[in-house]
Amino acid sequence: MKLAAGTLVIRNGQLVDGTGAAPVPDGVVVAHAGRITFAGPVNQAPELPPDAQQIDAGGGTILPGLVEAHYHPTYFNVADLDIKYPVEYVTLLAAANAKLALECGYTAARSGGSLHNIDVWLKRAIENDIHLGPRLAASGREICGSAGLMDWNPDYLQLGMQGLILLVNGADEARAAARKLVKDGVEWIKTYPTGDAASDHADHHSLCMTFEEMAAVVSEAHNYKTKVTGHCRANEGIKNALRAGFDTLEHGTFMDAEALDLLMARNTPVIPALQFELASVERGPSFGMSQKVVDGHQETLDAGCESARMILRAGGRIGLGGDYGFAWNPHGDYAKEISFFVNYVGFTPLEAIRCATLNGAEIMGRANEFGTLAPGKLADVLVVDGDVIADIRLLEDRRRFVAVVQGGVVKAGRLALAA
Ligand SMILES: [Zn+2]
Repeated sequence: MKLAAGTLVIRNGQLVDGTGAAPVPDGVVVAHAGRITFAGPVNQAPELPPDAQQIDAGGGTILPGLVEAHYHPTYFNVADLDIKYPVEYVTLLAAANAKLALECGYTAARSGGSLHNIDVWLKRAIENDIHLGPRLAASGREICGSAGLMDWNPDYLQLGMQGLILLVNGADEARAAARKLVKDGVEWIKTYPTGDAASDHADHHSLCMTFEEMAAVVSEAHNYKTKVTGHCRANEGIKNALRAGFDTLEHGTFMDAEALDLLMARNTPVIPALQFELASVERGPSFGMSQKVVDGHQETLDAGCESARMILRAGGRIGLGGDYGFAWNPHGDYAKEISFFVNYVGFTPLEAIRCATLNGAEIMGRANEFGTLAPGKLADVLVVDGDVIADIRLLEDRRRFVAVVQGGVVKAGRLALAA
């Protein structure tokens, strides 16, 4: 991705650096050639060249670009996930979703799984400046045990699912599936250790992979410097994933004290993705969701919030993102996850912003490049009209965005529209 030429100055706003530190009331960010050279109070700023590009934050907030840590670019606001569309159409939808995510202030995202191998190539198009979108980490297709959460079509229909999921039976098949994905170019392998409230046959307390299958995926992935994550709801599945050496946990819903101890001993990040559960409870019935499934989402919501609080209290790491791309939880609503953690789970705005910036960058293994406003990092910056700390929901409204900056280049927001 090309970096800006020259010097950029973003001034006249409170500076929230992404570390969780208190905001700097009158802050300024200076970037040269796309990288931050100064971030701090205006009275300590260096002398600036007269030809520097200026962004006036208008008394609003200057913060790091947001990181979506569980992003599904190929989900397209459907009520039912399935492979009903050709790869050509889904690719175009994914491209539109990526542009939308950037417009929503997300300058980076980690895929939580993609149909076909679309996110691997979407990432390439974004990196080569062919298309606008977040800096991506790609996952490609996902791995699940046969009969698990993602294996929902009865066998007698003889429908292929290979564009979405690699179904495995036993450690050898799990290893073979991991090898295929490594060859496809993914950076993360997404697995399904457990079921979900959404499933008729594999609910949120069931296991969808054996420990041996999970360990086989991890050993093969790590051999090729690829990371592993998994959809982990049931307590035993969470423990299996931690013992198998997963690099992150998606959801981490039903955690007992032993699971928390295992998590803390490994310092494994968790991406709860909880606003989806609230949206499912509130809006699912209008899309035909059964009461049994709604009840399961409510149970997931309650336990997920409690686990998130437990992890925060224990000093663990949480990333924010979450399964946007269902009809009741559509693309574009990404920042509702941040508000949810403040207004529903009880995180402070600064804690939630840290989860959505620095922790996201750490999850992507790129915290040395972005995630905070600090010298040496890429100038990935979000400039918002208004006090985000006083009202976190301002992040949900992209009409409030003065600028979304990636590598020092204004890519979205009012200033991009005006240009
Ligand atoms: Zn997901």
